[in-house]
Parts: sequence; structure tokens; C-alpha cells
Amino acid sequence: VSLSISPVKDPQGRIIGLSKIARDITERKLDEQRKNDFIGMVSHELKTPLTSLGAIIQVADAKLRQSEDTFLAGAMQKAIIQIKRMTGMINGFLNISRLESGKIQIDKAHFDLQELIEEMIAESELTISSHTIRFQGCGAVRILADRDKMASVLTNLISNAVKYSPKGKLIEVSCEVNDRSVQISVRDQGMGIKPNDLPHVFDRYYRVSTTHTQHISGFGIGLYLSAEIIRHHGGDIWAESQSGAGSTFYFSLPLVE
Ligand code: ADP
Repeated sequence: VSLSISPVKDPQGRIIGLSKIARDITERKLDEQRKNDFIGMVSHELKTPLTSLGAIIQVADAKLRQSEDTFLAGAMQKAIIQIKRMTGMINGFLNISRLESGKIQIDKAHFDLQELIEEMIAESELTISSHTIRFQGCGAVRILADRDKMASVLTNLISNAVKYSPKGKLIEVSCEVNDRSVQISVRDQGMGIKPNDLPHVFDRYYRVSTTHTQHISGFGIGLYLSAEIIRHHGGDIWAESQSGAGSTFYFSLPLVE
């Protein structure tokens, strides 16, 4: 913070006091707000054509399934996967912009968390052939939460486990019911996170510097958003890791009384 101090003078020009102005803070806040508005606007504009592109491709895909053209069918599947990825990124930006402007909406409903985890693993398996995902379930767990947002937390943790661990490695997802909460974990056998980076991975736009040098793409918003979503549900999110020996991301949610 830079404080600017200027003299306060009376009508005769005599100094009668000093005024301190913390100009920096407001300017920085305005900058952030402009950046945030811009991100929100761009993402919103991009989402409309992308949604219709997705719908067109889905129709074409359904038609192609009736034909014998395996090459085109394969190309269509790849296009669908890429559209899903891009939609995920844009939704991330939209959510971050809504969050920053206090407009994030949590639509809670009752559902079975284990069923959602299985759904998200099955969906991830469609796009990932490089890793094996193993799930240790805990039976039906009824929770009161925003299903779409929980789905995005799970997708984020699973896709990070894939992104930050070598091909062929195992990813273990587990679910454990305690007294009043349910705990989910996603464990990978990847590069891990150094102790000095670990406390920051949930910060907005934070990326461990080596991920840049290894050309792993990302914006550093997935974990920040996941943490905000979990906190909005009265839950907790944290990570344990050893550099070079993999990471485990956990989150817990209160159970419905
Ligand atoms: P992104 O992956 O898009 O950069 P995230 O917010 O999801 O953004 O993650 C923030 C950072 O935390 C990543 O850039 C990476 O450095 C680190 N990270 C996240 N998940 C893992 C993981 N499973 N293993 C190692 N590092 C991770």
C-alpha cells in the first residue's frame, strides 16, 4: 500500500494539517473489478457459440452412429471431448467472475454423492485412456448440495490427478463416511507438490512454477473455485503431498441430519 500524504491548508495558505490517502488500494480494486468484468463478459460471449456448436455436433454424432463411417465417428467423438474441455474452462471463468462479484449461486438439492462420484469417474474414463481410475466406495450417501458444482469439484480433482501424474499411473478415488461428515479423497502417483507450494495451491491464479516449465496447461483457478464451492457448503478441502511421490486431495461435506 502506498500512502500519499498532502498538506491541508486554510484559506490563507497556512498548513493546518496533513491528509493521508491510500490511493493504491482503490485503484488496485478497480483494476481487479475491471479485469473480472472483462473475464465475465468474454466468457459469456464465448459460451453462446460454443453451446450451439456442441448441440450441432451432438446431432451430427447421432446421425453418424447410424452410418458405418468409423473415421468420421471417431473424429466426432474427439470434437465432443474438446468441446467439453472448452466448456469446462469457460464455466470456470464464468464462475470465478460470479464469485468475485458475489453473484455465485448455490442451488442445493438432496442427492447421493456416491452415485455422482461414479458418474464423474465414468465420464472421465471416456476422455482418459492414459490412466487407470480405481474407486473405493462407501455406499449411498445422501447429501444436500449443488450437484453441478460438486461435479465440477470432482472433475477438477480427477483431471488434476491425470494432468500432474505420468501416463499409466493409478488414480485412487475414495469415499469415507464418518459421524457427521463424508470425506472424499483423490490420490495420484504424480510429481507431488513441494512443502512451500502446498499451502498456496488453493489460491486464485496460483500455479507451481515447475508446471509452466513442463508445459502443463492451466490457469490456476480450478482449486480456488473448488475450495470456494466446498466452503459455501460448510465443508473443508485440503491436500497432502510429497514432492515426487504423489498428492492426495481431500474434501469433506456435512451429512444431512
Ligand atoms: P491448474 O491445474 O489449471 O493450473 P489448479 O487450480 O487446478 O489450476 O491447480 C493449481 C496448481 O496446483 C497447479 O498449477 C499445480 O501446480 C498444482 N497442482 C494441482 N493439483 C496437483 C496434483 N494433483 N499434483 C501436483 N500438483 C498439483
